[in-house]
Amino acid sequence: MKKLALRYEGKAKRVYDTDQSDYFWVAYKDDATAFNGEKKGQIVDKGEVNNQLSALFFEEIEKAGIPTHFVRLLSERDMLVRRLDMIPLEVVVRNIVAGSLAKRLGVEEGFILSRPVVELYYKDDKLGDPMVNESHVAAMGWASVEHAREIQTLGFRINEILKKILGKAGIDLIDFKLEFGVADGKVLLGDEISPDTCRYWDSETHEKLDKDRFRRDLGRVEEAYQEVFRRVKAALV
Ligand code: UDP
Repeated sequence: MKKLALRYEGKAKRVYDTDQSDYFWVAYKDDATAFNGEKKGQIVDKGEVNNQLSALFFEEIEKAGIPTHFVRLLSERDMLVRRLDMIPLEVVVRNIVAGSLAKRLGVEEGFILSRPVVELYYKDDKLGDPMVNESHVAAMGWASVEHAREIQTLGFRINEILKKILGKAGIDLIDFKLEFGVADGKVLLGDEISPDTCRYWDSETHEKLDKDRFRRDLGRVEEAYQEVFRRVKAALV
């Protein structure tokens, strides 16, 4: 598999063409941003953790019968993925209140929701990713009604898969963000699943083991990323 022209550079990853037009080469970076790009920095070896941890989660999700874009790892920092037409939405699933939901509802971080919640955000940095619902998605033509429903159902199913793995690793899954795309008319999970896109709290101490350590200047950022990777690997043996 050959890495060809850079097609797209995002905040955390670079996407390259390959010699096969249905596949992209994704290179994970150490760059970290928060608050819609206002805060910038680097998290040493984040690219390696996020690439390999995402691969582990994608494999488990595939085993449960949910298609993903993941094909195989190419190196510690690179993976090969199926090319998707991305649906321009962030699908956020929450088990425990944190972040923007705590602010929006005026509820303390850590409040345990009686059932998981799913939210949709329209991906647009200029607008600050506004929250939308299924009817906006269909009316704006971002996805069909069927696909809008499917990505929310898949969000709940993926939540159960991730909670089970992380539970074995002594980690509570507070919330996370997914992105989906379409290939041959079918919905596939895309993007990544990592401490950049999830909130993980230690089940015993409730210590934050995710990007909130960077967002909120809590220190020991690299250590938290490495710790999650180490524990998830051990939980999957
Ligand atoms: N999230 C993300 N990218 C975004 C926004 C949110 O990966 O652009 C993740 C975030 O890490 C958290 C979940 O989605 O795990 C819910 O984030 P929230 O809405 O609370 O927003 P935040 O507090 O990150 O602004």
